[in-house]
Amino acid sequence: MAENRTFTMIKPDAVENGHIGAILEQINSSGFRIVALKLTQMTKADAEQFYAVHNERPFFGELVEFMTRGPIVAAILEKENAVEDFRTLIGATNPEEAAEGTIRKKYATSIGENAVHGSDSNENAAIEGAFHFAGREMF
Ligand code: UDP
Repeated sequence: MAENRTFTMIKPDAVENGHIGAILEQINSSGFRIVALKLTQMTKADAEQFYAVHNERPFFGELVEFMTRGPIVAAILEKENAVEDFRTLIGATNPEEAAEGTIRKKYATSIGENAVHGSDSNENAAIEGAFHFAGREMF
């Protein structure tokens, strides 16, 4: 995946709470182009693989349970400096620490159920995008 791309998920909490439209609108109006987009649900094996880096952490079981309990919106986004700018747009992992106006500040409910994912490096953006999308699904 190109270095001007990042990968995001609108997590099950935000989907359940009816925030898909508002979050996509904020992403678009912040200058990101949607390259790939779908509503999908991760299996337990998917979530364990996607979050493998956290598999020793105490919250891992809860995280897998949460991420598989309902549909997510997966998307690849394009913008100059996409990874860093998207992390700024979503805000800190813990919504209590997230800046005003950020997606997590507005829509997250807790440090675990925090509404959105954003890749933390260009390398992970490429891996995560390819995990969810085939080449023919990217535009
Ligand atoms: N998480 C959690 N408890 C914690 C820290 C993280 O449940 O104490 C969850 C949360 O959903 C977070 C995900 O694990 O988004 C990945 O954690 P990371 O530290 O990579 O945060 P992010 O990069 O998503 O801000």
